[in-house]
Amino acid sequence: MSGRKYFMNFPVTDSSHSLAAYKARGGYQSLQKALTSMQPTDVTKEVAASGLLGHGGAAFPAGRKWGVIKLTDGEPHYVCMNADEGEPGTFKDRWLLEHVPHLCIEGLILASYAIMGRHAFIYIRGEFDLPFRRLRDAIEEAYAAGLLGENILGTGYSLDIVLYRGAGSYVCGEASAMLASLEGKKGWPRNRPPRLTVKGLYQRPTVVNNVETLANIPAIIGEGGETFRKVGLPKSPGTQMISISGHLVRPGVYEIEYGYSWEKFIYEDCGGILGGRALKCVIPGGVSTKILDANELKGRTLDHNSALAAGSQIGSGGMIVIAEGTCMVRVARVIQRFYHHESCGQCTPCREGMGWMERILDRIVRGEGRPEDIDRLYHISTANDGTTICSLGDSAGYACSAILDHYRDEFEHFITHGRSMYDGSLTVEDP
Ligand code: SF4
Repeated sequence: MSGRKYFMNFPVTDSSHSLAAYKARGGYQSLQKALTSMQPTDVTKEVAASGLLGHGGAAFPAGRKWGVIKLTDGEPHYVCMNADEGEPGTFKDRWLLEHVPHLCIEGLILASYAIMGRHAFIYIRGEFDLPFRRLRDAIEEAYAAGLLGENILGTGYSLDIVLYRGAGSYVCGEASAMLASLEGKKGWPRNRPPRLTVKGLYQRPTVVNNVETLANIPAIIGEGGETFRKVGLPKSPGTQMISISGHLVRPGVYEIEYGYSWEKFIYEDCGGILGGRALKCVIPGGVSTKILDANELKGRTLDHNSALAAGSQIGSGGMIVIAEGTCMVRVARVIQRFYHHESCGQCTPCREGMGWMERILDRIVRGEGRPEDIDRLYHISTANDGTTICSLGDSAGYACSAILDHYRDEFEHFITHGRSMYDGSLTVEDP
């Protein structure tokens, strides 16, 4: 695969997650540099100059997010690492946490220094057992080595990290829900404004960054923002970790430079489609992003602008590849069942709409669909748009309406004949 790598350059061995291995690769030198020769605002300026975009899904510029924190109010500010990676199809942060936990910790310390934080938090997905243990051990190693706690590296800067384990809720990956959960409340998203950078954890300004976003910071501080910007594309600088799954010869975690070809990635790097089938479509960035069919991918590059131009997003970098012969009615049902299960229930359009859509899809898949069901699905999936507190309601609607837009004929066939046009073929449930 062409292009520069940041993360995949770290050799994975039985001990590559240790402090000794990380330091042998130059680990914590960026922290030393920042604490001894840079002011907190210089760190933010360097990150802004790099053009680094958030890697959790929204692709918001990291430097701009940090830059709104007022450092002069004398009150606490917090950084929270969002390690609650729960978007279906996404497992790239898990790779980073398992193999280079110290890279993530160094990034978190640098971000905390930039906003003059004294306490930082890591909210890790409850099901992540090995990543949790690796992170816990790495934090202990960092404290023992004077990289955390009082007077880090003798520079006068102090920081404590709190590692908090979630309990399996998808919606707690939403930043405001995550902070509520950290405070010991129900993990419910809340309306904004006020933004979290104004009123976040314990009502104090809080920066929430994804694991991969923070893991980029040591390279930016070490090499400089302008050097970082030379990799990738002007509007999508750097690289993207992609977790790719589905009907693929070589699924797994990859790192691509923005601007890389989708087709090259799927057919060469990932070995193409299982069983020599044709590619039907791709869910590009977790199930919250709109599907792209094989034609829409032709000649397209993997970057934010290209995905937006095609009507979708890179999202959380969780790509699901679907082969020709897969029943998209069943795919829609699997996705809708997930959203209904994970709705927190605060907003009526989400709570009721998700259940309603799931019941309609269940009925179609049982062979009891009604002719009006397709229009009803469209109506419910678009009625959510902009009416809910968080984006779960919107995303579920987009996912369903995009499948209906592309594969309406499959729904019509299922309703008319009481079975899928692919019955007997490969489906997402029997890959
Ligand atoms: Fe909860 Fe759904 Fe409303 Fe989000 S959109 S706050 S998940 S009910």
